[in-house]
Amino acid sequence: MGKWIFGLGLIFTLSVSYETQFEESGSEFTTPVKSFSLHEKGYLTPDSVPTGRLLVVPMQVTGFDGEKSVKLESAFRVLEDVVNSEEFKEKVLNFKNRKGERAFASNKGLTNEDIYSKFMDGRENLQQDTPNEMNFFLKLYNRPWSRVIGYTSGSTNLININWKYFKGNPIHSVAANLAHEWVHKIGFDHTSASESDSVPYGIGYIVGELVKARLSSGLY
Ligand SMILES: [Zn+2]
Repeated sequence: MGKWIFGLGLIFTLSVSYETQFEESGSEFTTPVKSFSLHEKGYLTPDSVPTGRLLVVPMQVTGFDGEKSVKLESAFRVLEDVVNSEEFKEKVLNFKNRKGERAFASNKGLTNEDIYSKFMDGRENLQQDTPNEMNFFLKLYNRPWSRVIGYTSGSTNLININWKYFKGNPIHSVAANLAHEWVHKIGFDHTSASESDSVPYGIGYIVGELVKARLSSGLY
């Protein structure tokens, strides 16, 4: 328990921490995303920033067989679709933090525009040579008594995912969680599990919301 940090999720359960490990607890993404809307003062038009293009590239995926692998592939597909959408770009550029500013919390001095560009650039801290790719190293583990959705650390690209939550969560939550974890890989953290306007949470919520909307409108 000692090494764990940053919890994530909707039901934030565990959140203690030291440095390098991010632990994501909870079940589903339900926090509504706040963003500046068109006609609202402070709204940034998406055309003012170049649109990026990202590919989801599974690098090393272990523990997902049969149905699990089908579910993971669906999550990858909707994730890739959503991050390349204009809606995603608009939501990231216009993300509103809890103070009502057009900024993420724990943004490392970067504006929303910088964060969108860095995200779409696709260079993980530990894998700089594959631009424009979200490279995923995933391992499914089974710990039924644990309330942790998944965890990772700053010293590895590997993201560990708890089978219990992977199995029980809808596709939009799986995609949101993958996005959240991957944002850690490009160097953004959260100070605690309740920092819902941090970059990992904010972008995770945006992905979850957009996938959910597309699913309910029959787009997938
Ligand atoms: Zn996290």
